[in-house]
Order: sequence, then structure tokens, then C-alpha cells
Amino acid sequence: MKSLLLSFLLAFGLVPINLCGQQAGPVATGAESVVAFVNVHVVPMDEERVLEDQTVLIEGDRIITVGPASSVSIPPTALVIDGSGRYLVPGLAEMHGHIPPPNQPESEIQNTLFLYLANGITTVRGMLGYDGQLTLREQANRGELDSPNLYLAGPSFNGNSVSSAEQAGEKVRRQVQEGWDLLKIHPGLTLAEYDSMAIAARGAGIDFGGHVPADVGLEHAIEMGQLTFDHLDGYVEYLYGVSPGAVDPDALAEIVARTIEARAWVVPTMVLWETLYSVNNLDELNAFPELQYVSEGSRASWERQFRQRLGSPQFDRDSNQAVIDARMEVLAALHEAGAGILMGTDAPQQYSVPGFSLHREMARMLEAGMSPYDVLVTGTRNVGAYFSAWDTFGLVAEGHRADLMLLEENPLTDLAHVAERAGVMVQGRWYPESAIQARLSEIAASYRQ
Ligand SMILES: [Zn+2]
Repeated sequence: MKSLLLSFLLAFGLVPINLCGQQAGPVATGAESVVAFVNVHVVPMDEERVLEDQTVLIEGDRIITVGPASSVSIPPTALVIDGSGRYLVPGLAEMHGHIPPPNQPESEIQNTLFLYLANGITTVRGMLGYDGQLTLREQANRGELDSPNLYLAGPSFNGNSVSSAEQAGEKVRRQVQEGWDLLKIHPGLTLAEYDSMAIAARGAGIDFGGHVPADVGLEHAIEMGQLTFDHLDGYVEYLYGVSPGAVDPDALAEIVARTIEARAWVVPTMVLWETLYSVNNLDELNAFPELQYVSEGSRASWERQFRQRLGSPQFDRDSNQAVIDARMEVLAALHEAGAGILMGTDAPQQYSVPGFSLHREMARMLEAGMSPYDVLVTGTRNVGAYFSAWDTFGLVAEGHRADLMLLEENPLTDLAHVAERAGVMVQGRWYPESAIQARLSEIAASYRQ
């Protein structure tokens, strides 16, 4: 399958001679081809540091060499990318992402995958599976699509899809057999159904994550081994259970300690919750430049839903703002205590535009008291740790999957630099920023028609 990017590059004569004629993906690198980032500053993300003036060699989908530019020799056939004054950083992850279901137009699926990639997102954990989606995962992970690496949760476990404890266990075994990477938990499961799911999951060696059903509660979900708590689901509910409308510091410290003890992860999705609680300004949301990459229909429905929430008799800005503030306290406490935090925004939905929403989320993480380095850890090294049973990635280091961003400035001094890209590499395939911008323009134009 010839990708759109390859067509673009061929059309503009941008494919290096040694890369022409290969089958796998856009600017593919096979056994005989190496990509060399030369004279580049490396932000390896193993600790907070910058390795100055390095050469990084990529062969196939792996980083094979990271060393001082003065001592690394460059194979004569290599595609050389000038890294002078630039920063090479591991690609980021959207750990609570969505991919349009297979019944959507193919273009919608391809555009969504590309919007992630265009923003330096090289791994997406898809958090709601649909029949037929595993084929897409295989294509993406074989490098046949302009897509991040995909890991997919299966179809949801919720009050509608599960009607008995027995059925919950069966559903687990079926999803394991089908090959999903995770079980997705939504609200509505009874305690008995949840426990049956959790026990079957443990028996079958698959993890589960997502929401915390009200009947289950956060403490019990932690005890049962839920791996990820997305949207900080259950935390404010737990704290308000101890002290209605307030965050009790002892209760907060207690639940944070239990989270860490259980080695559970959280995917905070802070920005989305502000929108769902409608504490932000609709005019500001509608002015997001990235809305040009979203269909008119989606934009209209996002605005309609926002207005509906505002107009609801239950809407109370003060109590909603209190929940949003409590969530910030929870994130700050989890971070200070050293809990496992993963970057995610729940795109695409509700003004969270794939890829672009991550930049807004990073700003919120800084407000919670995290440093730029801490924030980048949640999208790189932590993601590699989370997926360590699948593959090796998340650092700029030898043996790691070549998922990278080349940035014009140092992201450790200012996370806004993450948006100043010179290009993105996924599985060793190089997407220069000029090609990314060209494809983004095409996507925007397609939604204007
Ligand atoms: Zn979601």
C-alpha cells in the first residue's frame, strides 16, 4: 500500500534515492538504508539531561547508535537529517485516544491517525474497540499507514453490554482470544459483574482500565487490580464521599498511597473535564485554530452539547468549578507522591482535536506543579514502561523503537517548543515538517468543501 505521504514526496522529488522503490510505508528504511540525525542535541528522557552534539543512527524501526557526532561514522548510503541546533526527543503518546469506528469513512480514520502523528504522537492507546479495528492495528503496526503505533482496548464493558457476572467472564475470554490489548471499563457494571470481569482478566493475563463504575468505587477497583484510572475517575467521588464538597488532605494522601502501592496508572485528561463541566468559555473553545481539522458536523455537535450543559437546570458553575479544582489537587498530590501518570486527552471529542489537544493538556499538567521534564515523562518513558511487555520504546536510546520528534528548540525549557517541530519519525519512517504541513492543509481543505 502506497501512502499519501509517499505520493507527496515522490511528486515533489523529496524521496532520497536510496529510499525509492521500497514497499513499506512512506520514507521507509530497510536493511540497506540508515537514517542519520547528525549534530543533534538529544533529550534521551532517561533522566533530565541534554546530550549535546550527537549523531543518532536509525536502521529499520530501531535506534542503533547514539553517540558523539565526532565519533560516530555515517554509512555512505544513509539519509542524513541535519540536527544542528535542534533537539531529538522521544515521540509522545495519547494514552486515552479514540479511532473512528470502521463504519466511518476511510478518510475520517486516516485523517484522525495523521492528526496524532502530525503532533509528534507516535503511540496511541485506543480506548474503545470496535469489531474490525484489529485489522487497522495490524496495518498501522506493520508500517502500512501514516499512523502512530496502535494498542487497542476492546469493546466496552458497561451496563448495557454486560448483563450478568457469568457473561462478564465470557466477554473477557472472548476478547483475549480475539487479541485485544486491554479491557475497557465503562460505568454501569454491578459489583458482581466487575469482580467476575476482574477475576477472569487476571486468569487470562489481560489488564483492564478506564472508568470506575459507581457500584464498585475507587478503593475496590484498586484492590481488584485495575491498571489505569482514566479521567481520574473515582478520585473526587471517593474524596467527596469522605467529606462532601471538599478535599480532605488525609483522605487524599491515603488514596494516593494506595494508588502507588497497587502500581496503578492514572490518565488525567484534565482539559476534557473542564469542557464536560463547562467551566471554560465557549467563544474561546470555538476559536481553537485546530478546529479547521474537524468536520463541520462534529464542531456543531460539540457546540450544541456545550450549550445543552450550560442550559441544564442542574448546571451550577460554582460546584463544577470546585470539582475541577479538586481534580487539580488530586493530580498535584499524585505527582508529588510519585504516582504513575500517563499523558492522554480522550481525543477526538468535545474540543479535544487529535494531537493538538495534547499541547493544551501539557499546559494543565504544568499548572498542577509538574516541570516540563515531568510532563514529558508521562508521554515517553512512562508509556514505554507501561507497554514494556509489548516492545521497547520511550527513550532515545539504542534498541528502542525509532519513534522520535525533531524540535527546533529545547522542550525542557518550555513545552511550547514541542509544537515547533522539524519532523516526526514513527517506526523509523521520517515525516519532515514540510510534508506534515502539506497534508494538514489538505485535511483542512477537505473539511471546508
Ligand atoms: Zn474516552
